[in-house]
Amino acid sequence: MFKRLRRTRQNPIIRQMVAETQLSKDMFIYPYFVTKGSGIERPIAAMPGISHFSPDTLCRDVEACLRLGLNKFLLFGVDEPKSADAHSAHDPRGAVPTALRRLKAEFGSDAYLITDVCVCAYTDHGHCGVLAGNTVLNDPSIALLAQMALTHAQAGADMVAPSDMMDGRVAAIRQTLDQNSLEHTAIMSYCIKYASSYYGPFREAAGSAPKQGDRRAYQMDYRNSNEALREAEADTDEGADVLMVKPALAYLDIIRRLKDHSLLPVACYNVSGEYSMLKCAAQQGLIDEAAMVMENMYAFARAGADIIITYHAKELLQKVGCKSSKHKKELNKLRKKWVFSLLLINFAARNNFYGCKTRFCALDSFL
Ligand SMILES: [Zn+2]
Repeated sequence: MFKRLRRTRQNPIIRQMVAETQLSKDMFIYPYFVTKGSGIERPIAAMPGISHFSPDTLCRDVEACLRLGLNKFLLFGVDEPKSADAHSAHDPRGAVPTALRRLKAEFGSDAYLITDVCVCAYTDHGHCGVLAGNTVLNDPSIALLAQMALTHAQAGADMVAPSDMMDGRVAAIRQTLDQNSLEHTAIMSYCIKYASSYYGPFREAAGSAPKQGDRRAYQMDYRNSNEALREAEADTDEGADVLMVKPALAYLDIIRRLKDHSLLPVACYNVSGEYSMLKCAAQQGLIDEAAMVMENMYAFARAGADIIITYHAKELLQKVGCKSSKHKKELNKLRKKWVFSLLLINFAARNNFYGCKTRFCALDSFL
C-alpha cells in the first residue's frame, strides 16, 4: 500500500484548493532610482527594464503602478554630489527629499513611501559610513545616518530603511525621529545584509561601488546563520518595525530561520544580481521569464517572507493584470450566456411552459 499524493494534483481547481502558499500584490515593494532634474527616464544598462527617474517622471511611473495595485515604493538617490562627509545625503534639496515631497503632494496616503538610508551613493570613497584610513567608523556613521533618515522623514517618508549595517543605527534613527515628533515614521531594518556578489548591477545603477576594499568589515559573512539571528535580535531591541534579509534567493534558509525566530514582519530583497541574471537569460531565450519570476516569488513567500522587495513587481502585476482581465472577459461572456438562458427559463416558468411552475429569481447572482 502506498500513498497517492497525486490525487490532490489532478487539476487546477484541486491544486488551487490545497496550495499552501499564497501571494498577494500587497506583499510587494517596488524600488526606484531617483535623480535630480526633470524629464529624465534613463534606462540602466545593467538592469534591463529599470530606469533612473527624475521626480516628475517618477510621479507618472508611480501613477501607473498605483493603477496596478502596487502602492509601496523604495527610493534610492543617485547622481548626488559625493564627498568624504556625505553631506548631500541629508540635503533637503536632494533627489530623494524632492521626490518625496512631490509624490506626497500628488498621491497623499495612496502611495506608501520608503527610503533607503545609507551614504555609499553620497561618499567619495563609496563606503557606507565615515572612513578613517581603511576603517569605516561606526559611531560617527550612525549620527550621519540618523540625520539622513530625519531629512527623509521630514520630506514625507512613511518608513525609512537603513541598509548600512553599522551597529546601533536603528536605535540612533528611532531616537532622532522621536525627538523630532516623527514617532509614527516606521523603520524597516536591513538587519541581515550579507556581503554579497549579487549586488553588482545595483552598484552600477546607484554609482555606489567602493573605490577600494570591500564591505566585509560591516556586512555579514555568508557562511553565518546564527549571527543573522543575533543581528535581528539587536535591531528588534533597538526598535525596528520590519526586519529584512538581503539578498533573497541564495538565502531562503535565513528567511525561514528569521520567520521562525521573530514575531516581526519579515521582508526579503530580491536584489539586482538575481533580477539581472534572470533578465539576461530571458533575453537569450534560455528561460521562461514569467514562469521563473513567479516560481521565485512563491519561493520567497514559502520560505517565510511577508514582504518582497523586487524589481519584477511592476511587470509581474502587469502580466497578472493582463491574465485576470482576459479571465474577466471570458467570465463576462459566460455570464451573458447564463443570463440569457435564465431569462429564457424565467420566461418559460412565468408562462408555465414545459410544465415548469417555479420562478427563477437568481439572476443577479450572475451579474
Ligand atoms: Zn551602503
